[in-house]
Amino acid sequence: MVVGRQSAREAPISELVQRLRDRGWRLTAQRRVVAEVLAGEHIHLTADAVYSRAQRLLPEISLATVYNTLNELVGMGEVLEISTGDGPKRYDPNSTATHHHLYCVGCGELRDVNPEGTEGLALSVTQQHGFELLDVDIVFRGMCPRCRAAAARAAMI
Ligand SMILES: [Zn+2]
Ligand SMILES: [Zn+2]
Repeated sequence: MVVGRQSAREAPISELVQRLRDRGWRLTAQRRVVAEVLAGEHIHLTADAVYSRAQRLLPEISLATVYNTLNELVGMGEVLEISTGDGPKRYDPNSTATHHHLYCVGCGELRDVNPEGTEGLALSVTQQHGFELLDVDIVFRGMCPRCRAAAARAAMI
């Protein structure tokens, strides 16, 4: 007797895939899995992580395709490219809501945050130095609770 749900692992269509569909983006199988693995909250994956997740869904996908697709999605403004200062760039599908980031220097965890007082954040004309501003991304750096606990344990030994 079969107990429980059927095995079908039909993940609900991710928000990003839906947005791309709405834009009429050509969703080949390869491009689709790249968009699919960029789903969920606080998702900030390196290109390598996108690649290994995508490979689980589509083993024949190439790293070059992953890079090309990520670059295209960033160019379209559908995926944000986040620099943490150290380590590789991260890719963030949460491009529709303005947000900033909280970064753990211990383990590299990156979370979305909305700091108070950033709504009116602006540079005066002189401080823009003739730049045309595209966006702003604030990264708060620190140690997450797990890394702090680990550091405290290490200090006790
Ligand atoms: Zn940490
Ligand atoms: Zn983010």
